[in-house]
Amino acid sequence: MAKRTIAALDARGKRVLVRVDFNVPIETPPDMPAVVADDSRIRAALPTIAALRENGAIVVLCSHLGRPKGADRKLSLALVAKRAAELLGVPVPLAHDCVGPETARRVRELEPGEVLMLENVRFHPGEEQNDPAFAALLADGFDAYVNDAFGAAHRAHASTEGVAHLLPAYAGLLLDKEVRVLTALLESPARPFVAVIGGAKVSTKIDVLKSLVAKADVLAIGGGMANTFLAATGMDIKASLGEPDREADARAILAAATARGAEVLLPVDMRWSGDRILDIGEETERQFAAHIAAAGTVFWNGPMGLFEQPDYAHGTEAIARAMAGSSAVTVVGGGESVQALVQLGLADRMTHVSTGGGAALELIEGKKLPGVEAIPNA
Ligand code: ADP
Ligand code: MG
Repeated sequence: MAKRTIAALDARGKRVLVRVDFNVPIETPPDMPAVVADDSRIRAALPTIAALRENGAIVVLCSHLGRPKGADRKLSLALVAKRAAELLGVPVPLAHDCVGPETARRVRELEPGEVLMLENVRFHPGEEQNDPAFAALLADGFDAYVNDAFGAAHRAHASTEGVAHLLPAYAGLLLDKEVRVLTALLESPARPFVAVIGGAKVSTKIDVLKSLVAKADVLAIGGGMANTFLAATGMDIKASLGEPDREADARAILAAATARGAEVLLPVDMRWSGDRILDIGEETERQFAAHIAAAGTVFWNGPMGLFEQPDYAHGTEAIARAMAGSSAVTVVGGGESVQALVQLGLADRMTHVSTGGGAALELIEGKKLPGVEAIPNA
């Protein structure tokens, strides 16, 4: 079910609390000031902020950063506000607390089109506790709430869920697109639907595998998790990363595929370092790429090998290139998978690259996201 979006919000003159996911990596090079190492999450929220400003809203941005235990200057959003101001081309001052009388005064004094950033919402324990009293403090002084923080939508926190029950709530453009693309993937994929799954372990992806084996026409399995599947089929994986206690799960996935006539592709050759499998091999790359080329839809999560080491990045690069060259609808989700894609400079060549690692996988697993559920349907 589609959610009510900002297209349905008459924003003129309204004070709008906008939850964004500006939980970006901050790096402090030796003897240099700290910098935002990757601003893609800030960029991803720009269309929503721009649309609200164009419609005359007063935009107040709210985000978390990291996992502070109480107020922690190292996890201030000051640098993030500065980067947002550069990208938006307007001042984005930072209020030094996300709630309280001083912040309320600043919010009251803003004019239409102006933007204010609130300090890290996780400085208050009420945020992660989804404390109704804290949610009420956040909502105070606002006319509407917009959630564009897809990357935090799997958390039922005060700023992602609680506040949506206290103000008229709308989906931002990013959150709306993420939900539409990922839901369509499961409900009405152009076929054949090829799912390429990798990453380190079966155990962290078991629900993703179960969901996809029930939907996809082809399940191509690589990465460390393929070792457990190979071991389950009798291969000696020697000292490779494997999970013996997950071999039964692997066999159950293979049986589920057979039962509905879906094809499972396991690596037929691998790149080894000593007695460890660290990447898929060339013939496997060719087979996976051929299915990707012929697909109607491709969903990819999880690197095909230890891609952080250039010697074992080949399989991951082969998948990314095959997807970039395919005419299929191509969707990528997952922290390291997206990182690999960005490193290769191929993110722009995909139909959709999800900004939500954990949130995207939970949607693929068929779970409901509290931050999405709290927004009224369109
Ligand atoms: P994502 O964040 O995209 O969901 P995961 O977190 O599941 O992906 O897995 C990513 C990690 O898996 C990477 O750090 C990568 O190095 C590791 N990995 C992939 N293949 C192997 C392998 N054969 N052996 C060890 N680690 C691997
Ligand atoms: Mg990961």
